[in-house]
Amino acid sequence: AAGAAVLVRKQMKKSGKWARAMGIVREFQDQCDSPIGKLRHVADAMTVEMHAGLASEGGSKLKMIISYVDNLPTGDEEGLFYALDLGGTNFRVIRVHLGGKKDVIKQELEAVSIPPHLMTGSSHELFDFIAAELAKFVGGEDENSHPFPGRHRELGFTFSFPVRQKSIASGTLINWTKGFSIEDVVGEDVVGELTKAMERVGLDMHVATLVNDTVGTLAGGRYYNPDVIAAVVLGTGSNAAYVERANAIPKWHGPLPKSGEMVINMEWGNFWSSHLPLTEYDHVLDVESMNPGEQIFEKMISGMYLAEILRRVMLRMAEEAEFFGDMVPPKLKIPFILRTYHMYTMHDDTSADLKVVGNKLRDILEISNTSLEMRKAIVELCDTIATRGARLSAAGIYGILKKLGRDKVRDGEKQKSVIALDGGLFELYTKFRECMKNTLKELLGEEVSENVVIIHSNDGSGIGAALLAASHSQYLEVEES
Ligand code: BGC
Repeated sequence: AAGAAVLVRKQMKKSGKWARAMGIVREFQDQCDSPIGKLRHVADAMTVEMHAGLASEGGSKLKMIISYVDNLPTGDEEGLFYALDLGGTNFRVIRVHLGGKKDVIKQELEAVSIPPHLMTGSSHELFDFIAAELAKFVGGEDENSHPFPGRHRELGFTFSFPVRQKSIASGTLINWTKGFSIEDVVGEDVVGELTKAMERVGLDMHVATLVNDTVGTLAGGRYYNPDVIAAVVLGTGSNAAYVERANAIPKWHGPLPKSGEMVINMEWGNFWSSHLPLTEYDHVLDVESMNPGEQIFEKMISGMYLAEILRRVMLRMAEEAEFFGDMVPPKLKIPFILRTYHMYTMHDDTSADLKVVGNKLRDILEISNTSLEMRKAIVELCDTIATRGARLSAAGIYGILKKLGRDKVRDGEKQKSVIALDGGLFELYTKFRECMKNTLKELLGEEVSENVVIIHSNDGSGIGAALLAASHSQYLEVEES
């Protein structure tokens, strides 16, 4: 009888802890909740901030950067161009041969992962590394592929951080994001830094354009589809760019572009609104990040952070409710050990016993012997975090459509709005992507959503930069005049 009593006490203790752990889960879920009414408030706030950011420099947390891109590709671009895409966990070099009439004759691409120490080292180290990789790639040219014999090669530089553009081919870094932190680049012209590094390795190349990845994605999307009006990147970081009427940009004091349009790099990652469903975990994540107080929207929706939020909730469950046993698993204490690709692998586990979840917990966090109930709870957490991120991303897109007056059917006229999406999160996290699309439909309503199309612009940012380099190449300009 005494043995039975001990067992009962043990079970009660266990179920008390289980209840506490589930309490943590439920509380988190409540705080993450994003009902449609809340999303509408978020979208409205986005629209308001867009206006404020366009009105004056520093007028909003949304920088609404003028990209100096006032002409998007038409499909007629011709020649051989290079692009360099720096901004996430790896950087890519691209060579593209354009044949006019939307014909990409040949495209070669190489992705190189950036050694982590370079992300926080010195400007010289980073740019020398990039220039050296680029030089290697250029070394692989065949005899036909020097675009302008006797002249410089032309390069489109995609640099996916907030840059105060000075022209289409220059701009100073405002601040780093996504775990980069190289102090001596902040405030510097990144084209100047790249050009100097290319000179140091003896590479003969001219930077024709400096663009954000969202602007590149927009250009890449527009090349194939004239209805593309905006681009969104959901990758390590997140951001959006769209085509604005130039006379709707009060802070633009330059001449009115012929096209009457200007591409705006919103830097929406830095969006903030009191309507955002923020939790205490988001707060601590932010405080302990490399850029506290910055990129709050990005920290809720992008690939760098989703799994880190998950880790933090799991850690709380371990510490306060002994969710994984008496000991807190040491690996669970390591920031960023869980990556978003681990998270979507777990979230996508369709096996009845959630074997994949079990394996990931064992392999990444050294947590073994989890019960099916525990694994289910973790999948639920993945779902909560991904759903919140996806729904907020949809609200952001809806905000842009509202700003452009494309959230309604006007005078029975059916105007197509195509949005080019890119980034690993969008591409690989199926549940996130589907939830985002469904939420956008929910926000737009059936009739309007028929005219709003999301397309995947694969590697659009790199090719987009090459296309812009083509239309802004100094040689074309010389030949035209
Ligand atoms: C950067 C943006 C970029 C986005 C997606 C953000 O962290 O600030 O410039 O477009 O990531 O790469």
